[in-house]
Amino acid sequence: MQKSAMLYEGKAKKIYDTDDQNCFWVEYKDDATAFNGVKKGTIVDKGIINNKMSAMMFKYLEGKGIETHFVELLNDREQIVRRLDMMPLEVVVRNIVAGSLSKRVGKDEGYVLASTVLELYYKDDSLGDPMVNETHAQAMGWASIEEVETMKKIALRVNEEMAKLTAKAGITLVDYKLEFGKANGKIFLGDEISPDTCRFWDTETKEKLDKDRFRRDLGKVEEAYVEVYSRLKEAVENA
Ligand code: 5GP
Repeated sequence: MQKSAMLYEGKAKKIYDTDDQNCFWVEYKDDATAFNGVKKGTIVDKGIINNKMSAMMFKYLEGKGIETHFVELLNDREQIVRRLDMMPLEVVVRNIVAGSLSKRVGKDEGYVLASTVLELYYKDDSLGDPMVNETHAQAMGWASIEEVETMKKIALRVNEEMAKLTAKAGITLVDYKLEFGKANGKIFLGDEISPDTCRFWDTETKEKLDKDRFRRDLGKVEEAYVEVYSRLKEAVENA
């Protein structure tokens, strides 16, 4: 497959067109941003970890019957994905209270939720990704009520599999963000699954092993990304 024009440069990835009309070429960058781009920096080799980890997680989920955009890992920083028409929505899955939910409901970080919380956000940096619901999504033409239902169902399946896997790695899956897109009228899981998009805590020490280390200036950011990837890789290999 041949890489051609760059179609889009996001905060963490570049998307290129290819000579295959069903595929995009993705390049993962080391650039890190937080708080909707207000905080900027670099996490050395983050692109390598996130590329490999996303590929590994998507492949793992595919093996569990969840359809994702992943096609092929090319090298350290690049992978081929199915060409999706992305829905401008983020689906956030929460098992434990942290981050914005902690602020919104006044519960301490670490509070274990009695059941999984699913939230929907409209993906727009200039608006700070506001929280919306499925009636907004339908009324604005972002996704139909049925499509949101499908995304939620897939998100819960992802959560079952991810939570089992992370538990084997001694990691608590706190919360994470998923994005979905359509190809031939069908919904696929897209974007990435990495320490940029998930909160991972060491189950024993409660140490943060994700982007919160960057967001909150906790140090040892690169080390945390490497740690989480190597523990999950071992869990996948032994699964
Ligand atoms: P919160 O709503 O607490 O800020 O985020 C909840 C979870 O979703 C966290 O794991 C966070 O990393 C992820 N998340 C939510 N929005 C975004 C986003 O715009 N970019 C990234 N990388 N992660 C997000």
